[in-house]
Amino acid sequence: MRRSSYFLPILKENPTEAQIVSHRLMLRGGMVRQSAAGIYTWLPLGLRVLRRIERIVREEQDAAGCQELLMPTIQPAELWRESGRYDVYGKEMLRITDRHEREMLFGPTNEELITDIFRQAVKSYRDLPKLLYHIQWKFRDEIRPRFGVMRGREFLMKDSYSFDLDYAGAKRAYNKMFVAYLRTFARMDLKAIPMKAESGPIGGDMSHEFIILADTGETEVFCDRSLIEYDVLRDSVDFDGDLEPYIKRWTQYYAATSDKHDPAAFAALPVERRVTARGIEIGHIFYFGKKYSEAMKATVTGPNGEAVAVEMGSYGIGVSRLVGGIIEANHDDAGIVWPKSVAPFQVGIINLKPGDADCDAASQETYRKLNESGVETFLDDLNESPGSKFATMDLIGLPWQIVIGPRGLKKGIVELKERRSGKREELSTESALSRVLS
Ligand code: ATP
Ligand code: MG
Repeated sequence: MRRSSYFLPILKENPTEAQIVSHRLMLRGGMVRQSAAGIYTWLPLGLRVLRRIERIVREEQDAAGCQELLMPTIQPAELWRESGRYDVYGKEMLRITDRHEREMLFGPTNEELITDIFRQAVKSYRDLPKLLYHIQWKFRDEIRPRFGVMRGREFLMKDSYSFDLDYAGAKRAYNKMFVAYLRTFARMDLKAIPMKAESGPIGGDMSHEFIILADTGETEVFCDRSLIEYDVLRDSVDFDGDLEPYIKRWTQYYAATSDKHDPAAFAALPVERRVTARGIEIGHIFYFGKKYSEAMKATVTGPNGEAVAVEMGSYGIGVSRLVGGIIEANHDDAGIVWPKSVAPFQVGIINLKPGDADCDAASQETYRKLNESGVETFLDDLNESPGSKFATMDLIGLPWQIVIGPRGLKKGIVELKERRSGKREELSTESALSRVLS
C-alpha cells in the first residue's frame, strides 16, 4: 500500500477526548473515528488489525472443533421473554420496534438465539455434542462508554456456545475453549491470565475471565509469576484427547486469583512468584448448565427415550477490545509497537526523497519484492519532512522499517530499523530484504 493513495488520516495533536494511551494512539494513527459515544468507524488501518485478530481467533476456534455460523445482530424480543431475560437485562439493551410494532432488539449476546436454532434442529442425544460460534457486532448501551474501543457500545465479539448431554460433556467443551483461549492470546503475544470468576448461582469452578496485564486495566489481578512466564504455544494440544490434566495444571498449580477468590492461595506462593498487577478482561468462558435449555425447552431424546434438557456453556472474546488491549500492552512514547501476528503491515518503507529518481526506483523495487514475497508492505511516498515521516512510521508501529535516502543509496545502503528494540542497521538493500524475509 502506498501512503499517497491510502486513507490514513493521521492526527498530529493528541485528541483531548482520549484518556488512555490505546485510544489516543488509535485516533492519532488513523485507525478509528468515533461516530457517536462508544460507536466507531474502523478506518482501513484499524480494520486490517481487527481482521488479523479475527483470523487468529477463528483459526483457534476451528482447531478446537468449534464450527462457525453467523447469527443476525437484530433479534426478536420474544426469545428473550422465553428465557426470562427481556425485563431483567435493563437499560443496557437497545430495544427497537419495527413498522409492524414488533419488538426487536440489537443483540448484546446470543444465548437465546442460538438455543432457538439448536432446539429447532437437534432432537437426539446422538447428534451431540455441538460447539458453535460466530463473530458478530454486539450492542450494549453501557452507562459509561469510555477508553475508545475497549468499552464501546457497539463492539465485535466472538461468542461460542456448547451443547452437551451431560456435565462431563459440558466440561470437555469448557476445557477445549479454555485451551483454545490460551493459544489464541499467546499467538497475539499476549500474556493472558485465566482468572477464576464469579460463576453465579450454579456454583462450581466453571467460569474464567481471561485477563491481560496493563496498567490501565479495570481489574486487579493477583497471580503466580510462572503463569506469566509459561510458553503456551510450545505445547501441542490434541483437542480430541483428554484435556483435563492440562487444565488441572493451569487452574491449580498456576493458580490465578482475584481479590474475591482465594487470597490464601496467593499468600501461600513464594514471595518472588507473587505478581500484583492490573488487567483488562479480553475473554470470558462460562458454564451455565440448563439455565436456557430448561427455560426454552431445548431438549433432546436421551439414550433411554427420555427428554433431557441439554447442558450449555458460552465463551466470549472481545475482538474489538483486543485491538485496544494489545496497544495497551505494546507501545512506547513514540507510538504503537505491533506484535508481528496482528500488525496491519509487516514492513514500512520510508522514501526520504520522493521525486529523486534513485530513491523512487529503490523504494519501488523494495516494495515490489516484499509484496511479491507475500510480505504486506506499506510505502511512505509522501512529500513530507523526514522527521514527520519517521514520527508517523513509529506511531503506526509496523514491526520493520526500511529507510531509503539519497545519501545511503550512493553507498549502496539502506537503514533497517526494528520498531520494538529501536535497533538500526545499515545494510545493502538485499541484506535488508533477506533479514525481513527470514
Ligand atoms: P465487562 O465486565 O468488561 O463489562 P462483561 O463481563 O460484560 O465485560 P462478557 O459479557 O463476558 O463481558 O462479554 C465477553 C467479552 O466481550 C468480554 O470479555 C470483553 O472482552 C468483551 N466486551 C464486553 N463488553 C464490552 C464492551 N462494552 N466493549 C468492548 N468489548 C466488550
Ligand atoms: Mg459488561
